[in-house]
Amino acid sequence: MFRNFKLVPRVIFGRGCFSQLDEILSPQRTTLKDWVVFVTDDVFTGTALASRIPLHDNDLLLYVNVDDEPKTQYVDQLTQQVKTARPTLPCAVVGMGGGATMDLAKAISLMLTNPGSSTEYQGWDLIKHPAVYHAAVPTLSGTGAEVSRTTVLTGPEKKLGLNSDYTVFDQVVLDPELTAGVPKDQYFYTGMDCYIHCIESLAGTYLNEFSKAYGEKSLDLCRQVFLENHPDAADKLMMASFFGGMSIAYSQVGACHALSYGLSFLLGIHHGVGCCIAFDALEEYYPDGVKEFRVMMEKTGVDIPRQVTKDLDDAQMNTMIDVALGLAPLWENCLGKDWQTIMTRDKARSLFLKM
Ligand code: NAD
Ligand code: ZN
Repeated sequence: MFRNFKLVPRVIFGRGCFSQLDEILSPQRTTLKDWVVFVTDDVFTGTALASRIPLHDNDLLLYVNVDDEPKTQYVDQLTQQVKTARPTLPCAVVGMGGGATMDLAKAISLMLTNPGSSTEYQGWDLIKHPAVYHAAVPTLSGTGAEVSRTTVLTGPEKKLGLNSDYTVFDQVVLDPELTAGVPKDQYFYTGMDCYIHCIESLAGTYLNEFSKAYGEKSLDLCRQVFLENHPDAADKLMMASFFGGMSIAYSQVGACHALSYGLSFLLGIHHGVGCCIAFDALEEYYPDGVKEFRVMMEKTGVDIPRQVTKDLDDAQMNTMIDVALGLAPLWENCLGKDWQTIMTRDKARSLFLKM
């Protein structure tokens, strides 16, 4: 069976295109009562970008905090806040920020029209009703969250996305100028998330020409950004992220993402840096990719946290292994159908101990 994927129907790209956001949203505002909620990373509080948000009288500027990666409980709380803010539902939800903020915006738009808690929808195609129209304005490039059909949420029992066709954004606004203020470390870690998406997709057993077409171009752009010097590197990384997301849509990530989910679940390590920590330990599986990653790290002048697993006890280590090995499709993509005979618990433990 082939999967019939929903794609983002509208994309605008270019330096300064954020200025057209008001015009882009205007077809959604059909009556005077219609209002928009701008789900905005609180890092932008009081900044020039915040003053450029095209707020109408009835709109809601909702600042969100992403010090922790998005949790189902936070999504439920924000959804409630939006529902009680006005007597009607908003006509649009706009997410402005990195992967975490985009995921929060996707989740809120879904939960406004689907009853209960977001924990009930963690999984595949559990969402029943279409979301409120939702748009993304990425301010950090790499995750591919702007194109994916998931929003990654940590619930009380699991870290699992709300995967559905309804999750996909209706509009993406790609303005590379908006990534200008990202701290160097963060720019690298999230950029490497994209690089690793490409390496894992291109080396995977699920590879096909669709994924390859996007993955190869994305990888080429990542190399230009992190190994060469280009004045328009931000433009290149924004397109790399988009294409990297497209590449894994029709294939899968691999060992690095599986292990990084363990780090994230147990130690709360964020996605980008967690992927870097895990990838650095995976020379055996992605020899050329890891070598190149280290060159990029050196050239950027960024380092990764080391020995992050050294204080874990046996029970904690076992939990981390459970989370990582629970992601069967990722391992199958990396190692093939017999992955369980290769990636034993002992092997996974030895990899975690290298991190
Ligand atoms: P992020 O959204 O967590 O942001 C990282 C930091 O950068 C935050 O402190 C944020 O405030 C700051 N920041 C963002 N834009 C900035 C700007 N322009 N200037 C200054 N600071 C800025 O980081 P991320 O790596 O983009 O996203 C990681 C999240 O994305 C994780 O929660 C992960 O689970 C999720 N993710 C989702 C998907 C998906 O397909 N839905 C894919 C990969 C990752
Ligand atoms: Zn990733």
